[in-house]
Amino acid sequence: MVVTRFAPSPTGRLHVGNIRTALHNWMWARAHGGRFLLRLDDTDLERSTEENAAAIRADLHWLGLQPDAEAKQSDRFALYESRFEELRAQGRVYPCYESAEELELKRKILAGRGLPPIYDRAALALSDADRAAFEAEGRRPHWRFLLDHDSPIAWTDLIRGPQHLDPKLLSDPVIRRADGSWLYMLPSVIDDIAMEVTHVVRGEDHTTNTGLQLQMFAALGASVPAFAHEALLVGSEGKLSKRLGSLGCDAFRAEGIEPIALIALLARIGTSLPVEPVADPTALFDGFDFARFGRAPARFDLDELKALNARIIHMLPHAAVADRLPAGMDAAGWEAIRPNLDRLDEAAGWWAVVEGAVSAEIAPEDRAYLAQAAEEAASIEWSDGAWKALTATLGAATGRKGKALFLPLRLALTGREHGPDMNALLPLIGKVRAVERLRAAAS
Ligand code: GLU
Repeated sequence: MVVTRFAPSPTGRLHVGNIRTALHNWMWARAHGGRFLLRLDDTDLERSTEENAAAIRADLHWLGLQPDAEAKQSDRFALYESRFEELRAQGRVYPCYESAEELELKRKILAGRGLPPIYDRAALALSDADRAAFEAEGRRPHWRFLLDHDSPIAWTDLIRGPQHLDPKLLSDPVIRRADGSWLYMLPSVIDDIAMEVTHVVRGEDHTTNTGLQLQMFAALGASVPAFAHEALLVGSEGKLSKRLGSLGCDAFRAEGIEPIALIALLARIGTSLPVEPVADPTALFDGFDFARFGRAPARFDLDELKALNARIIHMLPHAAVADRLPAGMDAAGWEAIRPNLDRLDEAAGWWAVVEGAVSAEIAPEDRAYLAQAAEEAASIEWSDGAWKALTATLGAATGRKGKALFLPLRLALTGREHGPDMNALLPLIGKVRAVERLRAAAS
């Protein structure tokens, strides 16, 4: 059974980059009949807020990425404590007393010698008496995980292929602060084990963390999940942009973007599959495979999203949007108007053209023509073919053609020079209103 998790920290809102990660986790679980979990990584109690957590849930809901279950790390401290004790009993975590300034100094010295900033494990050499002396000074230890320098770190990443890290070139990671609070690294592993996560899908900025975490899985006696580290998202200009970091669901809603459009785009950019308009996310499951993800950054382009959004709106069925349409706009109304929309909220403006009052600037030389059109409209057999019938009769009677034939009619009937296909629109406007509008324009 596939189990994936999306693990945002509720220290802020979701942005397009983590929406994409959430989507891929959701898709992988759904495409394989598995479970998709929301795990709130709120070990940073100061910066995590319930307001952000609520906003993350609401955003996932809007996107249609419903988790099967939710957990938050702040409810799970007892579990972390007990697994930490196991590691401590095995000697795989050790207390360190260096202050931030002391560590910074060590790093500077290494840098001065042209060496990488790897922690020197000085704390491992402390005697019981040294530790007691620090404690007596009021120092409390932070804790590091002891990497096994003799087990090479290797895994086959579902996106990046074979990965190797030499543990000797890595610092033993700090897993717990002096105040007892947890850093991200160990609780994440403990949870991935407890929640039986089978696939960890996250950004490639976590690749080195994975190397460290693989040794934690082993130390905790657990088998390791599969990992897929996705290339980061960049703006259309090809750079990591600040703007992307603040682009979230509110901004997309304000732009009139449908969740399905965002999903269709984020499912495919950075992969070898083309971006395609779909009305339903399940249409994207076929062929969804991490092997198709590229290692180059995925490019996110808001204009591409807007264009895709319009194409998707043009194919959405009435049932999918009915609750957001103006009152009275039925399937025929929707189908007539949808080809003209870039965003759904423009439907109201077109519906007003069907139902409401319209007014138009009519050129004096067209008035007589429109008077004649009003008479014809009143007398023709009114049907779905009304526009064809009306224009054919008027063309024959007046000799007008093309723009001269059509444009004054469109203006008089809709108040606008452009818009939906008149074949579909005129039956919606109906005979009574059409005749009235033509008469008004003629006078
Ligand atoms: N809270 C971490 C983050 O947002 C989770 C990383 C992970 O998926 O393990 O980066």
